[in-house]
Amino acid sequence: MCAFSGCKSVTGVFSENELLVIHAGGTGIMRLYTVDNPADSVLLRSKSAAVQEEMLTSPDFSLLVNRMLATVNDPDNEGVGIAAPQVGILRRIIAVQRFDKEGEPFEVYVNPEIVFYSGNKISGIEGCLSVPGMRGRVARAAEITLRYRDSKTFEEREETVSGYTAVIFQHETDHLNGRLYTDIASETESVQ
Ligand code: ZN
Repeated sequence: MCAFSGCKSVTGVFSENELLVIHAGGTGIMRLYTVDNPADSVLLRSKSAAVQEEMLTSPDFSLLVNRMLATVNDPDNEGVGIAAPQVGILRRIIAVQRFDKEGEPFEVYVNPEIVFYSGNKISGIEGCLSVPGMRGRVARAAEITLRYRDSKTFEEREETVSGYTAVIFQHETDHLNGRLYTDIASETESVQ
């Protein structure tokens, strides 16, 4: 039910349309939105909305996070990070593989925002689950400070990260603002 006309979710719950996508096809891997598909591309180029605190305790949020993690860990199409728009949800949620931590776990961040970019840059090769068959060279800040909300308690936190993990954070937060790495790559090439 929508309490207000237009179903704009200012009420702290997912919209009916978001719920359809979160629950589509069961509980496992979600359909990846890719730039090959014009409708997907429009969504991928859109800015994501903030997650509201009330959402964190909903089973829909847990399901979405678990399905995002299943999707990025798909053995047939593995990634090192994923953002909610890549599975069709325009919400500020990302999962990043923490190569800078023991065991290299995936961690989930709500409403992430990069509040500091170092002037010092590093250049590396990136790919994206939403841009199939391509990779490219991108220069990114070598160190960033991320401000975000804890995915369980909604507490605000800040963390400074450097190196490859910092690059993944930049790539994933870009998705939340409708930006793809191909926008800033100095060169791209087809793979396979
Ligand atoms: Zn990507």
